Amino acid sequence: MSAAPVKLTHITKRFAKDVIAVDDVSLEVEPGSLVTLLGPSGCGKTTILRMIAGLERATSGQVFIDDQEVTQLPANLRDVTMVFQSYALFPHMNVFENVAYGLQVARRPADEIKKRALEALAMVGLEGLENRSTRALSGGQQQRVALARALVMQPKVLLFDEPLSNLDAKLRKRVREEIRDLQKSLGITSIYVTHDQEEALAISDVIVVINKGRIEQQGSPLELYTQPCNNFVADFIGSASFLKGHYDGKILSLAKYQLNHEQAITKGDVTVMVRPEAVMLGTEGLKARVISVSYLGSITDFLFQTELGEVMASIPGEGKMPLQKGDETYLRFKPAGIHLLKP
Ligand code: ATP
Repeated sequence: MSAAPVKLTHITKRFAKDVIAVDDVSLEVEPGSLVTLLGPSGCGKTTILRMIAGLERATSGQVFIDDQEVTQLPANLRDVTMVFQSYALFPHMNVFENVAYGLQVARRPADEIKKRALEALAMVGLEGLENRSTRALSGGQQQRVALARALVMQPKVLLFDEPLSNLDAKLRKRVREEIRDLQKSLGITSIYVTHDQEEALAISDVIVVINKGRIEQQGSPLELYTQPCNNFVADFIGSASFLKGHYDGKILSLAKYQLNHEQAITKGDVTVMVRPEAVMLGTEGLKARVISVSYLGSITDFLFQTELGEVMASIPGEGKMPLQKGDETYLRFKPAGIHLLKP
């Protein structure tokens, strides 16, 4: 399978006069990479995916696959396949027939169909199950059949529309790792839609955060987590507290608590994003009172009240509870978990 770039230039999709599902989105997907479209329900991510697939026509803008413009091309001529949340398997066909279906429609010779379908089933770890009815499979196995059915077409681009939503939490983790391993080993360009930030962090080369039809920020999982460009991204990827502070180019002041900080941002009033794992307890720093404590085994989650607002903290514990509700303490912040935003 050859890896192909995907490019969107100024794509807009209107469904009615007042419904702009996708608003001037431009995006470049590197060949062989896995890019996740991440955002809340209704932000337009599925519509973007469907425009790449050819299942939805853009109102304006252009779609390129492998450097060819496909904006007006129907889905069956685009050389992309999509894996759906619902699997969309044919219940009256067995596993092999489901996987072979696309090649049969394409009128490939029988021996080629057999070879490719068995290869695709082996890729997803389902060898030996080809005669099984799809109704006699677990959810995870059904999703693997759906994946094999997409892979057998040897598409230039694989599209995933929330493929793991119907699986339980444990299985979701396992299947997402399998998808990522397979995607990497095949080097196939993939675009993956999810609203689950943990899933996006775990599998992506690049995450594109979408809100109300527009791209808020794109970058590697690490970039988005450590350097979100605004409150929306900071809050959507991981959790964070936001405090009002002042920055003079070297020293960050949070009420009476001062700390060194280096970041290229305009001096003056700033909003300070604090990740929960960056919070440490001490005898000096930002004065705080415990509002709530949740002991979670390896860590303890706290919510503190400070004069600048509430602060969430995840503190590694050794099995003992350092603080109770109502106790007073001081908070200090590790530099790596702090990022300044324009207020
Ligand atoms: P979800 O995670 O809930 O699937 P999403 O981010 O994938 O959400 P889309 O399905 O792309 O969002 O929808 C974006 C917006 O466009 C929503 O406001 C939705 O109601 C609207 N929309 C989507 N499809 C249609 C349609 N066929 N006709 C009218 N409006 C639509």
